[in-house]
Parts: sequence; structure tokens; C-alpha cells
Amino acid sequence: MGWKSLDDMDLKSKRVLVRVDINVPMENGVVTDDTRIRRLLPTIETILNAGGTPILLAHFGRPKGQVVPEMSLGQLVPALEAAFDRPVTFCADCRGPAAIAAADALPDGAILLLENTRFYPGEEKNDATFAAEMAAVGDIYCNDAFSAAHRAHASTEGIACTLPACAGRLMEAELKALEAALGKPERPVVAVVGGAKVSTKLDLLGNLVEKVDHLVIGGGMANTFLAAEGYDVGKSLCEHDMTGTAQKIMAQARAAGCEIVLPTDIVVAREFKAGAANETVSIDACPADAMILDAGPETVERIGSVLENAKTLIWNGPLGAFEIAPFDTATNSAAGIAAERTASGHLISVAGGGDTVAALNKAGAAESFTYISTAGGAFLEWMEGKTLPGVAALGA
Ligand code: ADP
Ligand code: MG
Repeated sequence: MGWKSLDDMDLKSKRVLVRVDINVPMENGVVTDDTRIRRLLPTIETILNAGGTPILLAHFGRPKGQVVPEMSLGQLVPALEAAFDRPVTFCADCRGPAAIAAADALPDGAILLLENTRFYPGEEKNDATFAAEMAAVGDIYCNDAFSAAHRAHASTEGIACTLPACAGRLMEAELKALEAALGKPERPVVAVVGGAKVSTKLDLLGNLVEKVDHLVIGGGMANTFLAAEGYDVGKSLCEHDMTGTAQKIMAQARAAGCEIVLPTDIVVAREFKAGAANETVSIDACPADAMILDAGPETVERIGSVLENAKTLIWNGPLGAFEIAPFDTATNSAAGIAAERTASGHLISVAGGGDTVAALNKAGAAESFTYISTAGGAFLEWMEGKTLPGVAALGA
């Protein structure tokens, strides 16, 4: 792996600038879900136990290079102190004399939180001078914000070029899980890709057909593939202008030896709402006035048999309109099978994507998965085979 971890660094008496993602939801100035903060504990503890000082760098919201008081990180101090069970000092700047003075004055065992990096225009521009000014506050740079790693910003990329750099525990776990799923995976590898549209996941499909043994396509995007195969999909969500692209992806898959698994039976309804009257029909029998809202039981059985033989699964996108029952059935069933195979030690399962994480939680399957990425855009770009600047910058 082309990056260092905290274990490779001498942390004693060092100021460690830790880039974190603490974009937590808030209501009336109170953090309503501190998951993102609590997940940082292993990194904070590693640094403190080794005799180093954690200095947190983060963005918060989109202030676009200006000081926006509502987006000050200062308001997160109580939540950080509660989660870390340590004193947290806040400095209203992320660079310059004030930040350096705050680091000098920090008591042993305390944590320093610097102000929102995006208050400076140099952050998103990846300005080298700004990056060097932040770097001057610490001795070592540690990136624990995988979710921001697809952006080449000063605090995610530029700064790593000026200080000895490593991955934090969270970043390390994410990279190891992703490496296990697509880097050098145990085969056979299955990818499940669902969701609404082909157009948002073109690069993803193109990369996956080259890397996986089976590609299960579900959700709204399967309709485009079915239309490309000549099936009538009625009033379904379907990008008819993308059928040529779908054909190209299928040809690419054939050439690469990747089997594409499409629905063979479908659940159709006339209305997009919970409990809408529905029927399960064969793929060649979608009524002209109906929409495909889920995959049928025969398709789920097929997915199950692919998962039975698989060693690795990577999943993005629900198999149907999972928000409205009963069109969450295929997603729930397939998630259940994957969870069970994982729990019994037969499968390495990695999933990510906003709706996917919601769907797997709803299915009660998320906890059994090997790794669930909450990184959103960074996870997708990684699945697309792109180089993430924040990860590349950690390379030796
Ligand atoms: P993720 O956020 O995990 O990347 P997407 O945003 O691509 O996933 O897709 C999720 C959306 O796809 C959900 O809102 C779901 O309702 C929708 N969807 C899935 N299957 C269908 C379908 N057959 N018809 C319409 N919408 C669908
Ligand atoms: Mg989504």
C-alpha cells in the first residue's frame, strides 16, 4: 500500500495536524448525531498515547472562502469534549500566529481544534502558501478524512506535500476495506449496482466490468439495460437516450469476461407510493401503463446463488424503490443474504452510497457487512477507479 499509517510515525512530542470530517448534523446549535466525531477516537487516542498532540483541521459546510459565523467550528467544542472525554481548546484561525500560539499554550492531554479551513479562499484553491501556513502549526500531517479525499484542497492535499504525512485510523480502515474489495480481492467478486440512473454511474459501471466477475444491475438503472435488450419497460424510470451506452457496457463486460445479471422478473405498479397495488411479472410482460419498482423473487434467488459462490461483494445502489414498501423487498432480501454470508465468514462485503447505507440500515443488514463507507462522493470516485488526491498525497 502506498501510504503510511500512524504506526509508521514517531509521534512523541509531535504536533499532529489531523484533517478530520466533522460535518455533523445540527439543530439549534446542538449536534444531533455525533457518529462522525466518535469515529475519530482511535486516531486521537493513538496520538495522545504516543505522547503527541492532536490538532484538528476541518471544513464545515460551504462558506466559500469567507468567514461565516454560523459555520464556525467553535460550536462543536462541547460535542467534541463529550465524545473524546478530554478538554478541547478552540482557536478562531486555522493558520498564522494565533494558531501557533494556541498550540504552544495547549496543556498536556488536551486537543486543539482550529477554525473552519474553508473560511479562507486558499483552501478550495489548494493554494500552496495557505497550505504552508497551516503546515507551520504542526510537525506531522495525518489525514483521517477519507470523505474529503476526492478533493485536492489545501488541507487535504497541499499540506501533505509539506509535512511528513500519514493516514489516520479511520482512513486506514477505509483504505484497507476498499483495497480488499477491489484492489486485490478474493474471487469471485460480485458488484451490485442499483439506484436511479445509468447516467450518474457510467464511470462506475465502466470500471466495474473490468474488475469484477459478476455485475448485478438493479433499480431504475436496470430498466435502461432492459430497454437496451429490447424489452418494453412501460412507464418505468428509464433513460431511453442511454440505451446505446448500456449496450456498450454490456459489450465491454462480455469482452472482459464479466457476467451481467439483470432482472428476469419484476414488480410493477401504476403508482409510485407506499402500498400501491402491484404484481410480479416476467421481464417480457411489463404492462404499457405500469412502472417497474422492484426486482422479483426469481431475480433475488439468482442474486442469492451468485452471492453463494462469491468471496467478495461491493454494493452501491438499492435494487428497487426501497423507500416505499413493498418495493424494498428485493433490496432487503439480497442485503439479508449478503449479511448472512458475511456473518458466517464466507464473504467480504463492502457497501457505500447515501441511499445504499440508508437501505442497508433499513434492512437491518448494515451491521453484518464487513465495511460500510459513509464517504459518499469519495467512495463513488474510488469505485470508479479514480485516483483520490487526498490519498495519493499520502504516498511516499
Ligand atoms: P446511492 O445514493 O446509494 O448512490 P442512488 O442515489 O443512485 O443510490 O439511488 C437511490 C434511488 O434510486 C432511490 O431514491 C430509489 O428510490 C431509486 N430507485 C431504485 N429503483 C428504482 C426504480 N425501479 N424506479 C424508480 N426509482 C428507483
Ligand atoms: Mg443517492
